[in-house]
Amino acid sequence: MNKVTCNECQHEYELTHINTNLKEQLPNNIERYYIECPNCKAQYTSYYLDDDLKKVQAEIKRLQKIYPLKIKQKNKLVRLRKKILLMHNTLKAQAENTE
Ligand SMILES: [Zn+2]
Repeated sequence: MNKVTCNECQHEYELTHINTNLKEQLPNNIERYYIECPNCKAQYTSYYLDDDLKKVQAEIKRLQKIYPLKIKQKNKLVRLRKKILLMHNTLKAQAENTE
C-alpha cells in the first residue's frame, strides 16, 4: 500500500513497518523529522518543526475541533493552512542552509 523505494539502495519497504517519527534537534530550535531506510539507513526528511510552527499547528487543530465553524473561523483556518505552508518552506530553507 504505502510502499517507498530507497533512492540509495533501491530497497522497497512499507512506511507502516518503520518508525516514521525519528527526530533530530537542529540549531535555532528546529526539529527535523525523518524516515530511515531499514536496509542502508539513508535518511529522508519528512518535515521540519519549530516553536512558531507548533503554535500555528495547535491553532489549526483547535479550529478543526469546532463544529460548526463560523465563517470567520473558516476563513482563519484557510489562512492558517496557507501560513503554515509558507512557514514550513522558510524553515526548510533555513534548516538546509545551516547543514
Ligand atoms: Zn536504502
